[in-house]
Amino acid sequence: MFDAHTHLQDSRLTAVFDEVVSRAARAGITGACSCGTAPGDWGATARLARLPLPFPVVPGFGVHPWHAGRLPPDWLACLEGYLAAHPGAAVGEIGLDGVRGDVPSERQEEALVMQLGLAVRLQRPVVTHGARAWERLAEILKPFARELPGVMAHGFGGSAEQLRVFLGMGGFVSVSGSVCNPRAEKIREAARRIPDDRLLVETDTPDLFPPGGEPAGSGGDGKPLNQPSNLARVLTELSALRKVPPETLAVLTRANARRFFYGQTGNERRP
Ligand SMILES: [Zn+2]
Repeated sequence: MFDAHTHLQDSRLTAVFDEVVSRAARAGITGACSCGTAPGDWGATARLARLPLPFPVVPGFGVHPWHAGRLPPDWLACLEGYLAAHPGAAVGEIGLDGVRGDVPSERQEEALVMQLGLAVRLQRPVVTHGARAWERLAEILKPFARELPGVMAHGFGGSAEQLRVFLGMGGFVSVSGSVCNPRAEKIREAARRIPDDRLLVETDTPDLFPPGGEPAGSGGDGKPLNQPSNLARVLTELSALRKVPPETLAVLTRANARRFFYGQTGNERRP
């Protein structure tokens, strides 16, 4: 299983990191991507990518829309430095967020466009976040998409039409543990419709703890922390929705993740 979207460098996991990684390996995780979210966690993401872990972790470097409102003046040069030092890294997590209203959309869009320009110039795949902003995200992505080696919509929760637009740009679409919520009808409908060759799965560790999962401990707010071993829950739910055995989906999504993160040949570039 390849966990296409995590934040394993998150400080909430520091105390349980070794246990989380060995449990992931025992559960059958053979690869993961771990995305930074702001200049403050790029160093930890880079250190994580250098650790001798039981499975390779592709780092992502980027500014999450939640953090686009307060950036140091040299952030873009700093981001380029991390990407240059990690030729196998993706640009992410970047995007737009319509859930939390504390970062003006102009600031979010400005940071997104600058990072997309950098991803085109360095020819890196991009990992995007579009919570309640999928339509605008797709509009901004469109002119960049054909110049990029890959675009992924993480934790997709858009409409059937928005899904069609993402797929039309050649995008990969990743399903998170939110699919386990029986009331998340839009997410479950998208999870049924994503074509086999564009489907990815993720945990978004340490967030989006799925019902029936095994917590990695609890965060400061008392909520259970998610971990990559819970990817099996996502695959079980997807298996019921798509009527395909979970093992088949695990093989398929791993091959897709390798294509997305490592390029068409599937050769693993060292992070
Ligand atoms: Zn995330």
